[in-house]
Amino acid sequence: MKLFDSFHRRINYLRISVTDRCNLRCIYCMPPQGVPLIPRSELLSYEEILTVVQASAELGINKIRLTGGEPLVRAELPKLVKMLSQIEGIEEISLTTNGTLLKKYAIELKEAGLRRVNVSLDTFRADRFRYITRSGELKDALEGIEAARNVGLQPVKINTVVMRGINGDEALDFASMTYKEGWSVRFIELMPFVNVAEFVPSAEVLQCIELLGKLEPCSAIAGNGPAKYYRLPGAKGTIGFISPVTEPFCSNCNRLRLTSYGKLCPCLLADSGIDLKGLLRSDASIQEIKRLILRVIVSKPEQHRLAKGILPMKRNMSQIGG
Ligand code: SAM
Ligand code: SF4
Repeated sequence: MKLFDSFHRRINYLRISVTDRCNLRCIYCMPPQGVPLIPRSELLSYEEILTVVQASAELGINKIRLTGGEPLVRAELPKLVKMLSQIEGIEEISLTTNGTLLKKYAIELKEAGLRRVNVSLDTFRADRFRYITRSGELKDALEGIEAARNVGLQPVKINTVVMRGINGDEALDFASMTYKEGWSVRFIELMPFVNVAEFVPSAEVLQCIELLGKLEPCSAIAGNGPAKYYRLPGAKGTIGFISPVTEPFCSNCNRLRLTSYGKLCPCLLADSGIDLKGLLRSDASIQEIKRLILRVIVSKPEQHRLAKGILPMKRNMSQIGG
């Protein structure tokens, strides 16, 4: 079955935030003290997530991404991966993580059926890493990336949020990893949830990287999504640009988002969403859950309004899952 929204976009991708907790406090994502935590009893259980994914799969969702907060701080995440990987119709399960706990879980995740990971990494300098994450150790993230590659969670995509005056001078270092290590690096425009720094337009980052060689456009790599991909001459890895501010990708948006507390949202950057948890906890039938998912799809907006400065007010990134 194929599912389309009101603007003829095929919807086949569900991003699930499995927790609002995180072991880091990135300056662009959270205030220093963190965000008020949702009581554990309000977080969806793995069984409840399973029911949502079963219903979604019956409607035509075939890709799942687990995110957070930091998904690896939720206990027994590999168990959830295994449960989801057994659902008929789910072709791919991937994970977005800060990588610091990946060394510990990479093998278990791979064995459970995880296909790929995206690791968020904004710097190669230990002191900057501590500044950006307010607590983390660069070594842990780098070891996590290595562990993922070693167990075959490939291609590991590295997500880098570019901030002027903070890490903007490292774009070339990241780009050169596409030669040295075959990384797939994606530069993300900073979204102004927290006032930490000025964003750097993708066009500027691209121009800077071309100091290394002419970037050649390349067709989407596994998982594609919102990035535009290029390759430096002779490099094994690719360079992607995700430009929510200067080049919104809404016309290709194929996703829904489930928050850790059970709200199904049609857009990362809008406050709208419908509570699924109530239905899940009232023993609703799978048909009723499917009807609600369809209601959310119908409500999917044509585009977000970030360029006009309109941001979601009710949730932050760690709650909806970035
Ligand atoms: N903790 C995991 C991680 O950091 O990868 C998953 C959740 S995090 C909210 C998901 C993604 O959102 C990360 O790649 C992070 O860099 C990105 N993100 C968070 N705040 C952002 C912002 N203000 N602008 C752009 N990207 C942001
Ligand atoms: Fe945590 Fe990810 Fe947000 Fe950083 S970006 S604070 S790692 S949820």
